[in-house]
Amino acid sequence: MNRQSLIEQLDSTPEFDICIIGGGATGLGIAVDAASRGYKTVLFEQHDFAKGTSSRSTKLVHGGVRYLQQGNIKLVMEALKERGLLLKNAPHLVHNQKFIVPNYKWWEKPYYGIGLKIYDWMAGSLGIGPSELLNTEETLALTPTLDPDDLTGAVLYHDGQFDDARLAISLAQTAVTLDALVLNYFSVTALLKKQQNVCGVWVKNQLTGKEYEVKSKVVINATGVFTDRILSMDNPEHESLISPSQGIHLVVDKEFLPGDTAIMIPKTDDGRVLFAVPWHDKIVLGTTDTPVEEITEEPIPLKEEIEFILTHIGRYLTKDPQHSDIRSMFAGLRPLVKGKSKVTAALSRDHLITISESDMITVTGGKWTTYRKMAEDTVNLVAEKLQSQITCVTHELKIAVLRPVPASIEGLTDEQITTLVKQTANHEMCMTVEDFLSRRTRQLLLDARIAMEKSPLVAAALADVLNKDQAWIQAQINNFKNIATHYLPH
Ligand SMILES: Cc1cc2nc3c(=O)[nH]c(=O)nc-3n(C[C@H](O)[C@H](O)[C@H](O)COP(=O)(O)OP(=O)(O)OC[C@H]3O[C@@H](n4cnc5c(N)ncnc54)[C@H](O)[C@@H]3O)c2cc1C
Repeated sequence: MNRQSLIEQLDSTPEFDICIIGGGATGLGIAVDAASRGYKTVLFEQHDFAKGTSSRSTKLVHGGVRYLQQGNIKLVMEALKERGLLLKNAPHLVHNQKFIVPNYKWWEKPYYGIGLKIYDWMAGSLGIGPSELLNTEETLALTPTLDPDDLTGAVLYHDGQFDDARLAISLAQTAVTLDALVLNYFSVTALLKKQQNVCGVWVKNQLTGKEYEVKSKVVINATGVFTDRILSMDNPEHESLISPSQGIHLVVDKEFLPGDTAIMIPKTDDGRVLFAVPWHDKIVLGTTDTPVEEITEEPIPLKEEIEFILTHIGRYLTKDPQHSDIRSMFAGLRPLVKGKSKVTAALSRDHLITISESDMITVTGGKWTTYRKMAEDTVNLVAEKLQSQITCVTHELKIAVLRPVPASIEGLTDEQITTLVKQTANHEMCMTVEDFLSRRTRQLLLDARIAMEKSPLVAAALADVLNKDQAWIQAQINNFKNIATHYLPH
């Protein structure tokens, strides 16, 4: 993926079939689907790929045991099918993760045991391993730091785990291999209209300031929690579609949950699911569901959310994690489709596709796990509009294999880090220190202090490849540190 050569192609393309706004899971999935059906496709992302919600998930490719509890059978069936397809098409990016649901009350083993058997059954031939009932010894052998008082055993089940930002970059590469143009740091500033119909966009290259008029037969709004802003460009009077809900994660050392089995607590005080999941040699604890008003690129965990997770997880572990144990914390905003319920945990995770009077398509909601299905549904609609019924091929499309990049740079030499910076700048459109430390590697999410320490080295290496001066290096370090301080407990 060479950004400069993609920009040159943008200059020389008079009209695209499909223009996608937003480079998260939804937009990138659509780019892959559209390009694989042969449509001339362009995607614009205002920051970096997956800078929004798509790099801040719990990293699970799952059917959603919680939605099963809520009785949303259709959503669970669809997500389980997508989980199976993703494991087949991207085995290098998704793996089978064991979870246990610990049992402390007499009814929990039969209740969750039956529920998870139904979950297995719903996955059908795309199942990834049967659930099992464990006794206390078997449970503690898998999760030795689980509180043993009153423990009567556990139900073990399987789901998928992935690295969200890595999948996003792999989808961008897949789309480019299929001849799509995908560009980060290109912000859509206005919609182009002809006789009231949207027929393209105005975009600005955020790194040079240059503006472009881009014509396209179809424009798709895939901007997650920013959906309403694009809808306002189309019609300032539009009805709001999004109800944003914040979820945070705390990252702690592996000593709190050694081994490779995750813990799932099906019901916290506020009726949510809580996870403790091993991820890249750390443990991710989360998440919360807090309705928020403000939509921002860098949401910040609230004190109450941090307390909530520490208190709840402490009830299940022999050693309670404290503030000082937090290596990093990150927050994301769910782009939930507006409903009548005031409680965001009860809003649907189902996706919604709408077409405005001006013919712009908007895709919202859903989850990472179902990105492929969302893309299929959206491009089916486009195919109808363009009267070119080319069928979807992504059920079997393999997702690109990138050159390896470690999630953590802890312990690497300066020379090794410099080589990685150059590799990602040359092949993965890594343009800033934050791109490298947050989404090419995952150092910011794994240990924010180490990420801050390494930022001057990363800035200097990146300046070398991108031909930047000392002032750029300093601005990059300052900007990164401003962001990274919010990943440490305050
Ligand atoms: C806490 C949390 C945990 C989650 N855990 C899971 C999980 O474990 N498994 C799972 O399957 N799902 C999970 N999800 C859901 C999943 O992460 C989201 O559904 C998904 O990432 C949404 O992707 P998106 O592309 O719609 O939005 P985003 O990722 O936010 O992408 C939208 C993009 O549009 C860009 N944009 C906005 N305006 C413009 C413009 N004018 N021009 C160009 N670009 C623009 C933004 O910069 C952004 O990058 C979780 C969500 C949260 C919040």
